[in-house]
Amino acid sequence: MAIRKLVAASALSTLLIGGLALGPPAAAAPGEAGPQLLTVPASAADLIADLDVVEATNDGLVVLADPETAGILAQRGVSVTRSVSYADSVGQGSPAPRARSFAAAAEPAYPVPARLAGTEYATYFGGYRTSAAYEQFAGDIAEKYPELVQRVNFGRSWNKVNGRGGSDLLAVRITADVAKQPAPDNGQQGRPRFVLAAQAHAREIITSELAWRYATELLNGYGVDPQITSLLDSTEVWINFQNNPDGIRLVETALETSPKNATGDAVPANSSRAWQRKNANDTLFAPTSANWSSQQYGVDLNRNWAYKWGGASTSTNPTSPSYLGVSPSSEPEITQFSALLTELFGEYRTESDSAAPETRTGTYVNLHAYADYVIYPYAYSTTDAVPNLEPIKANAFRQSFVNGFQTGKAGEILYNNAGNDIDWIYSQLGVPAYTYEIGTGATGGFFPAYSRVPGFWEKTAPGIRFAAEAAYAPYTAALGGVVTEVDAVRGEDGTVTVSGSATDEAYGNERTSAARRPATTDITAVQAALATDRNAINEATALSIATPGKTVIFSGDIAVDRTNSAANSVFVRAQNGSGEWGPWRAAAAPALDAPVYTGDTEFDLVAGEEQALSLPVTSAVPASFTVTEGALPAGLTLNEATGALTGTARVAGPSTATVRIDNGVGHVDVELTFAVSAAELARFALSISAEAPQQGDTITVTALGHDDFGNVIADYSDRVTLTSSVDTDIIEGNRVTFRHASPHVITATLDGVSTSILVEVTPVIIDGGTPSPTPSVIPSPSVSPSPTATPSGTPTPTDGGTGSEAPTAAPTTPPSATPATSSATPAVPGGQTPSVTPGATDSPEEIATTGIELAGFVAVMGLLLGAGALLALRRRRTEV
Ligand SMILES: [Zn+2]
Repeated sequence: MAIRKLVAASALSTLLIGGLALGPPAAAAPGEAGPQLLTVPASAADLIADLDVVEATNDGLVVLADPETAGILAQRGVSVTRSVSYADSVGQGSPAPRARSFAAAAEPAYPVPARLAGTEYATYFGGYRTSAAYEQFAGDIAEKYPELVQRVNFGRSWNKVNGRGGSDLLAVRITADVAKQPAPDNGQQGRPRFVLAAQAHAREIITSELAWRYATELLNGYGVDPQITSLLDSTEVWINFQNNPDGIRLVETALETSPKNATGDAVPANSSRAWQRKNANDTLFAPTSANWSSQQYGVDLNRNWAYKWGGASTSTNPTSPSYLGVSPSSEPEITQFSALLTELFGEYRTESDSAAPETRTGTYVNLHAYADYVIYPYAYSTTDAVPNLEPIKANAFRQSFVNGFQTGKAGEILYNNAGNDIDWIYSQLGVPAYTYEIGTGATGGFFPAYSRVPGFWEKTAPGIRFAAEAAYAPYTAALGGVVTEVDAVRGEDGTVTVSGSATDEAYGNERTSAARRPATTDITAVQAALATDRNAINEATALSIATPGKTVIFSGDIAVDRTNSAANSVFVRAQNGSGEWGPWRAAAAPALDAPVYTGDTEFDLVAGEEQALSLPVTSAVPASFTVTEGALPAGLTLNEATGALTGTARVAGPSTATVRIDNGVGHVDVELTFAVSAAELARFALSISAEAPQQGDTITVTALGHDDFGNVIADYSDRVTLTSSVDTDIIEGNRVTFRHASPHVITATLDGVSTSILVEVTPVIIDGGTPSPTPSVIPSPSVSPSPTATPSGTPTPTDGGTGSEAPTAAPTTPPSATPATSSATPAVPGGQTPSVTPGATDSPEEIATTGIELAGFVAVMGLLLGAGALLALRRRRTEV
């Protein structure tokens, strides 16, 4: 019946009959008609603002129409130049010349990020994930990739706000170390941001699927693909998979029962809710037709944004596909998304005459369907130009380089439309913003078979990738050259050799955009740097260009030092004839190895010997050397830059030190053990077995051999030759028997080294006499490596050969001492107990406790030189 009515309705009858003759009647369910695609002159754009314009062709604008639409056009005096049924046109025939065709591919599995392998998601229409699946997906990736993803709930859909079920508005934030990144705060902090949004128009089902795939690509590629790794190390990617979840739920339900054409694309009847474009706001909805394709509730979420609201291609009729809502940003989906974007980018009003600064970061892309367009602002007006037109346009053409999508302002390639997202974002936030219209009628229109998705992804992804990678410098990077290929390998000397190609011709060159396409120039310079974050490259190395031209081959070496050897990417960029540098393109930095230690780990050193050791390593880049545990022998120093180990150890004994050798790529911890042995015998430390020997006692002399540095070598008691200054002493081995009370200088000698000790022998008490009141052991700081020392006393001062030794003190009295039996202290004038302290100028009291230890007193030996020394000391003592 509907068909008959159509035929009778207007002058379109002949065209419609032709269309029906071509199309299979099974395209629509029995008794139901599908919409028509009516072509009208482009000049009629203002007269059809409330209609559903889906595409522009060389012949004019294409309107999605139900039977009443033809009458409306006739009433308005708009001529229809072509009419085909939607069902007959989609998926049929040759695609438009600009749309590079692709074959539908079998999808081996619905793509999910690797860590979600096996996770089931609800689908409709052969594989498209449902709105509920997207909610689940946002949570799943945040849970499985916590280092990369956060799920952000930024609002509620119209249905949810109004208590009719509905959905939360979700986005995901994807960046490296996401938890450590500062929260969005009106764009003031954090990495540059790239926002990808999709499916503001519910029936444009391909768009969220592509956003899903982009998220999957990022998650699977981080740490694997250098471009993705460097992107997420330097940029926050925000994805709003579904702007319009309420509308989407209508579509996905309706598509399950929609008829399909021979290529598997859905061709819903006019009455199908699959045509839902707008949100679910039905407040003022009063339809005059049951044809949902032309009259449906909701506000057009791409006409409700608050900039130039109410302008071109907007309708005040609530049933219209382009209904703008009751006020700017009246819909919760827009209010809340606007607020989120403001937090992400920060306000920066460009309006129409104030350009955003070149340093502004961030880029926005929203995916729509269909027509194979890349659209840049302003979309509300053909004549009003954005102040940043050149870079915004260049960026759009860079995005369309691979897919050849027609590129321009909306009014240049489609029709002006106001109240859209990209105009608001540019004018209020100063960020370049783009709309993609993906697909064509030939590739399935609004409802392509799911098997077509890989082809859409292949065409769309390069543009998304460029926009994201240039988001750190959108107003300059797109104006520069494009590096199309980079290879990096490590040289023998640790340098990195970089080669590849760059071009300035990487602009979409679709024929109908030729007049807008930016001019191309020669590539004039290429730079490379080794870094982790493209935002923090301070120095770059110039590479050489083989043959000048618009497309060039380049090569060169980057020096690698420890400060950048850990960087995981090689970045390359190209400058063109306009003096602009293009975006950094990343390649994997060739692997560098951790250092390998090739030297000894055990060192036998001798005290006092100057050392010049090294810690050799194999490392492509210089390494650092640091003691992390233990300690080197005192006196040795480690050069942190070279690993040279130099100096002189003086203290004998073992030690262990762990040295960390780090070249920035990795490190090795080497445990070094040192054994410092004493140097040559230089003197003896003498001690005697009795603290206060008396006349007639026998003492044992212990002789510990020392080197010059105070290190004990061994006990030489059994090897030294003892002599005494008192020739009546009886010496047997290391035993000395004193026959007389007096100071005795006992000298130990071995191999030319001799040391003396002064022993005060007190008399034996006779007839109840009073014993000597004080210890009589007197240290004799008399060290002499004198081979000429004689038992008869008066040791001869000689050159000790070590400078630190003093000649033997020469006691003057012992040889003639009074026999010990008759005098308590015969040798001391004034009857005082001799109590000689080496260095006695300040602490004579130490005699008692240190009297037998000579080692520390070498330095004051000079005081005792000559015959007067002891006397002088004794005299001083008497004055105490
Ligand atoms: Zn759209």
